[in-house]
Amino acid sequence: MRTLETLQIDNQFARLDETFYTRLAPTPLHDVRLVASNPDAAQLLDLDPAQMQRPEFLDMFSGKKLHPKFEPLAMVYSGHQFGVYNPQLGDGRGILLGEVVNEKGEYWDIHLKGAGKTPYSRFGDGRAVLRSCIREYLGSEALHHLGIPTSRALCIFGSREPVQRETIEQGAALIRLSPSHVRFGSFEFFFYNRMEEQLQALADFVIARHYPDFQQADNPYAELFRAAVNSTADMIAHWQSVGFAHGVMNTDNMSILGITFDYGPFGFMEDFVPGYICNHSDHNGRYAFHQQPGIALWNLNALAQALTPLVPQQDLVDALRSYEGRLLTSFHQRMYDKLGLANATADDQTLVTDLIGLLSNNHPDYTIFFRRLSRLAHDADMAPVADLFIDRESARTWIQRYRQRATQQPMADAERLHRMQASNPKYILRNYLAQSAIEKAEQGDFSEVERLRVLLTKPFDEQPEMEKYADFPTDWGKSLEISCSS
Ligand code: AMP
Ligand code: MG
Repeated sequence: MRTLETLQIDNQFARLDETFYTRLAPTPLHDVRLVASNPDAAQLLDLDPAQMQRPEFLDMFSGKKLHPKFEPLAMVYSGHQFGVYNPQLGDGRGILLGEVVNEKGEYWDIHLKGAGKTPYSRFGDGRAVLRSCIREYLGSEALHHLGIPTSRALCIFGSREPVQRETIEQGAALIRLSPSHVRFGSFEFFFYNRMEEQLQALADFVIARHYPDFQQADNPYAELFRAAVNSTADMIAHWQSVGFAHGVMNTDNMSILGITFDYGPFGFMEDFVPGYICNHSDHNGRYAFHQQPGIALWNLNALAQALTPLVPQQDLVDALRSYEGRLLTSFHQRMYDKLGLANATADDQTLVTDLIGLLSNNHPDYTIFFRRLSRLAHDADMAPVADLFIDRESARTWIQRYRQRATQQPMADAERLHRMQASNPKYILRNYLAQSAIEKAEQGDFSEVERLRVLLTKPFDEQPEMEKYADFPTDWGKSLEISCSS
């Protein structure tokens, strides 16, 4: 374990030339203080978690007196927002402070979100609010512990600085850790500005750092695109399997590594409604839950377009054509795991499709449905599951079919249930749970943020003293609307 002074800092992105970023230091918040810190994420940096309690940590990471080895910069990018190309984006309120390389040789970008204005701020104030920092802090850690590739969150800095959103809120900042901050939109920026040399240099940077084996391929850039297609398809399959809705799948929010990135008005779907829209500003439902697989493909098309100077068109088209198969295979495998089915056959696809139809018509709580099913022994009364449905008869018919299928496999019932509980979380970050933690934090009490963080590190475990956190949302919790302003 390292101290702040012995952290291994190696700023590779800053070695690219200045067309990729603008160098500038963060503008610290007034009376900034550490309000939440995540020991799991500190481990990624080989940093002893106790180091985060030193006053020097606050200074070095919040920007009051930066770590001497950091080389802060705001990255440039562009992207398609709600389907429309915006040529002028970039880190408008985030600053890449530096990069840490750990003993495993992994690089982690240290990114301060809410760092103050940058040349890319446009009309924004360069700030983030406490509400959105808490949501990203808890959301990204929740996804990580569900096994979904994602950026991580190291800590939150709070302040009394007022920030104007729909109302006046408290300013805050988040330290996000990510293996990369390169987005689809980073490639689009260089493509649309006809900067092919930089486009290639950016691809070379990503390949050298994340996919060194591709350097031996006939066309490393074609491999990079295939990797983006595959990792994005797998990520979406995983999102769909747990009911995660990202909310703002603009191409500037899509990581080139296919990891969950840039948390805004995301939400975990509670009642199963395929058209679930978590972002209340998304009036047309472009980023509704059931749109995510298609939107990711749309975004991959935008990335393919940006890579046309580097990859023959046929290779791009072939990779794009492989997306749907990869996504479906990945999604079905996750559903078979959730149902505890080994050696699945084509018939099982029908079982899954029929289940999705049943859920869509009846809107039971998605998480509670699967968790109850994972506790339903073959000889047990099916009421706890069937009673979640409006049309109980249809639910019973499906459960009966499922039971018949499951009893045919050479697996003890206890083993099936055990496997299912490892695939169906009991605890997710429900909106009402996040909201309660935010409301307390706004009053200065961060204990609920920490309680939720710890709870969500073990989403699949029974945690008897935390039972109420697995409950249905209250009516109040169901009607919460998530603002896209952050
Ligand atoms: P997002 O939808 O949060 O991914 O942001 C889209 C773009 O707007 C990015 O370039 C952000 O850096 C920028 N942005 C978002 N909020 C702010 C803000 N408060 N101040 C400055 N820029 C912002
Ligand atoms: Mg963004």
